[in-house]
Amino acid sequence: MFDKILIANRGEIALRVIRAAREMGVKTVAVHSTADSDAMHVRMADESVCIGPPPSPQSYLSVPAIISACEITGAQAIHPGYGFLSENAEFVQIVEDHGITFIGPTAEHIRIMGDKITAKDTMKALGVPCVPGSDGGVPDLATAKKIGEEFGYPVIIKATAGGGGRGMKVAMNANEMESAFMTARAEGKAAFGNDEVYIEKYLTTPRHIEIQVFGDGKGKAVHLGERDCSLQRRHQKVFEEAPGPCITPEERAKIGKVCADAVAKINYIGAGTIEFLYENGEFYFIEMNTRLQVEHPVTEGIFGVDLVREQILVAAGEPMSFGQDDLVINGHAIEVRINAEKLPNFSPCPGKITAYHAPGGLGVRMDSALYDGYSIPPYYDSLIAKLIVQGRDRDEALARLNRALGELIVDGIDTTVPLFHALLQEPDIHSGDYNIHWLERWLAENMAE
Ligand code: ADP
Repeated sequence: MFDKILIANRGEIALRVIRAAREMGVKTVAVHSTADSDAMHVRMADESVCIGPPPSPQSYLSVPAIISACEITGAQAIHPGYGFLSENAEFVQIVEDHGITFIGPTAEHIRIMGDKITAKDTMKALGVPCVPGSDGGVPDLATAKKIGEEFGYPVIIKATAGGGGRGMKVAMNANEMESAFMTARAEGKAAFGNDEVYIEKYLTTPRHIEIQVFGDGKGKAVHLGERDCSLQRRHQKVFEEAPGPCITPEERAKIGKVCADAVAKINYIGAGTIEFLYENGEFYFIEMNTRLQVEHPVTEGIFGVDLVREQILVAAGEPMSFGQDDLVINGHAIEVRINAEKLPNFSPCPGKITAYHAPGGLGVRMDSALYDGYSIPPYYDSLIAKLIVQGRDRDEALARLNRALGELIVDGIDTTVPLFHALLQEPDIHSGDYNIHWLERWLAENMAE
């Protein structure tokens, strides 16, 4: 096992990793920008190194600074958290070239899954069901139009290098194809330096269901069921739960096995998520994330396992601590993402926290780096807390969520907490009757900007 690891991240996820490491007796090094000198992850780690000024490219994304911090402190491995450098194959390569272990998949697997066309081709070959669409990249508008006719509208044009909901455009009919195609290409080029796009049938009423997988890098892999993340705003998840309210045990076992077998076959190491759209009982692969997801705690809740501990274990060359048969679902877990944003238009709202009280009690987990008097800097993601609740069943989890949200105090800034109070009044949320478009529609009707 490692003596010391470095966490190349900040905020709640840095704390999350520090917590797992501490339970394993592994020392931790935090890195931080000058804007984060007072941050909780710096306070909680055994050591810390300032790696640069506030803008991420000069600190949290600065590869030389992070490698230097490892060398100075003698950290043997790097946990990337999510975001920042977590899915950067070049970074992983550099880390390994310096004799440091990357706690995550190989550079090759990250590269394959980071290119959506290659990812889709790979998954198809591994027997994973995919959304019908173009065979690889679509070179020009004329081909795009031909594909539109062939599959029937609506279609979605996606940048192969896209992510975070960017580089995707829907064409409802042939007339919309030109602008959708050009915009997706331009966005791909501007945001990711790659204008290659592909086309998929646009599913009109799907749910977002993703399968958590975990591999030991030596051909063994398991699945940890699904998460339903259908409540999204601008393709970004805001409310996630496990198990999915509409997935049967038979469906779970079947798609879970397909996913576990697929990643076992490529000797995948560590945590990964295979994302699907689910419509009329069918699963359609959209992408694989080769990292720990923001919403991993709901899976940890229902299976009672620590995914970060497991990541550190397999990175150190040790065997996984559970097999498929050990993984039994217990109850229902829900996570809500609390952002420092002002409703109704979700504008970022950084600032000083004048009072903070985290909810507690049975079945409540608060993953947050907030504290009384903390000043949220304006440079980073607006996620400030993840409230995760668990109950024996979905109704109990929802009641607990309502209770826990009521206990939470975050004064001094605006947050998205009122959104969740309002959602809990909705019968559709209680019945679980929604698809990926439900929240956008609800927001348009209830929170007009
Ligand atoms: P990103 O990498 O930007 O997150 P994804 O491919 O994971 O992009 O898609 C993000 C979201 O976009 C999905 O959760 C879904 O809401 C929507 N989406 C993607 N592909 C389709 C499709 N073929 N039909 C309908 N919606 C889609």
